Amino acid sequence: MKVAIIGGGLAGSLLAVYMARRNYEVHVFEKRPDSRKVGYEGGRSINLALSHRGIRALQDLNIANEILPLAIPMRGRMIHDLQGNTTFLPYGKDETEYINSISRGGLNEALMNIAERHPKVKFYFECPCLDVDFEQTIAYFKEFNFQADVIFATDGAGSVVRQKMVQKGFCQDNTDFLAHGYKELEIPAGLNGEFLLDKHSLHIWARDSFMLIALPNLNGSFTVTLFLQNEGDESFASLNTPHKARGFFQKYFPDALALMPDFEEDFFRNPVGLLGTLKSYPWKAHRTLLLGDAAHAIVPFYGQGMNASFEDCYLLDKLIDKYNQDWEKIFEVYQSTRKKDTDAIADLALENFIEMRDKVNDDEFQKMRKLEYLLENTYADYHSKYSMVTFHPEIPYSVAKILGNRQNEYLLSLCQQCKDIHEISLQEVYQNLKNLQMQVAE
Ligand SMILES: Cc1cc2nc3c(=O)[nH]c(=O)nc-3n(C[C@H](O)[C@H](O)[C@H](O)COP(=O)(O)OP(=O)(O)OC[C@H]3O[C@@H](n4cnc5c(N)ncnc54)[C@H](O)[C@@H]3O)c2cc1C
Repeated sequence: MKVAIIGGGLAGSLLAVYMARRNYEVHVFEKRPDSRKVGYEGGRSINLALSHRGIRALQDLNIANEILPLAIPMRGRMIHDLQGNTTFLPYGKDETEYINSISRGGLNEALMNIAERHPKVKFYFECPCLDVDFEQTIAYFKEFNFQADVIFATDGAGSVVRQKMVQKGFCQDNTDFLAHGYKELEIPAGLNGEFLLDKHSLHIWARDSFMLIALPNLNGSFTVTLFLQNEGDESFASLNTPHKARGFFQKYFPDALALMPDFEEDFFRNPVGLLGTLKSYPWKAHRTLLLGDAAHAIVPFYGQGMNASFEDCYLLDKLIDKYNQDWEKIFEVYQSTRKKDTDAIADLALENFIEMRDKVNDDEFQKMRKLEYLLENTYADYHSKYSMVTFHPEIPYSVAKILGNRQNEYLLSLCQQCKDIHEISLQEVYQNLKNLQMQVAE
């Protein structure tokens, strides 16, 4: 079996490890140079949250013990208000449930190193794929063509392979861009390498229509991301001088600004990234399959894009066992079973944007989170929406979305009606939640 993987990013590198485990010949073609030699993305530290769906794939491959030491556990959201006060809202029901901040470059490089340990895996850098002959399973590059038995396209949201599939009538796609973009900044480590904010939290400065977040890095720094409208009165377009950018941060994020000595330099050097939801279908053209962001890129507000892409690889691997290398069948079953779940996480991620930027400050929302916490710690089979999405890979995204939203509607209405959640009968609430669960299962 000769497998071509187009794109050696997060999904492509993990998939290479999966394919190597089957002892296939694996050829990974990556557009960029080898970051292990030239550094990642100009040396900026960019991190992302790894959670149980991603970790399940790493455990399945027996590599979680190599990857998790590169990560920092984040046990909850630390909400920063305008006055600089903080409130901690735990993500999980106890110490065992947390998400992990990990360097994007570090993770990618670790996965490439693990894949390359296998003698049948070869990475080709600075090798952008230009086209694919889907009938013949041939990938085209500038100086050569590559004949494969199967091709996996993990070339990210702007996938060339997907564009070719669309042009040739195999696939349809659509991208909805948000009016918001993002920019990465940095809170460096303190003078002795110490963390200047709580190390085990995902920090959020929620300001209704925009927000700032910060995730810790192993070296004591935090990667800070500003999500803001692209156009308008207070927008990336309007913050066009150092004075205006500083004034904006001074007004809305003074405590964070105080920790950013290189603020102006970072702000004007780092680009504004676009945010969008890409939906496409079908994902298969004969023996070529789109996976990860190439098939379903989402906005980052649930921290699930990479986790969903790792879950793609995990689920595909199980189907290869089940259908014994009948690739057209495997790809058909994969896409028809997976699509509803990637659509669901795309919707959940958009919903969470609203929750993160303008609900986390609400009294009712914070009350609901406390009620959920009580319920989760009293009844082992109750899981909040966040918990289903983040900590329970056995619950498909599509179920988490429907059940989670019904639960939230019910719990929020209870919290609006009471002054103190201790007035509420937990047993009665639990029974009603069980009924909801049964209705959704039907
Ligand atoms: C601001 C932000 C924050 C995020 N935070 C999180 C988070 O906290 N948790 C989470 O789970 N997800 C997060 N995500 C989403 C996550 O980054 C993506 O879902 C993930 O990177 C998808 O992996 P991928 O391998 O499919 O695509 P990518 O990581 O984009 O990799 C694609 C690779 O293909 C290569 N390539 C492109 N074109 C070609 C070509 N023609 N030929 C060969 N190679 C090519 C690229 O160079 C790249 O290496 C975030 C995304 C953003 C934008």
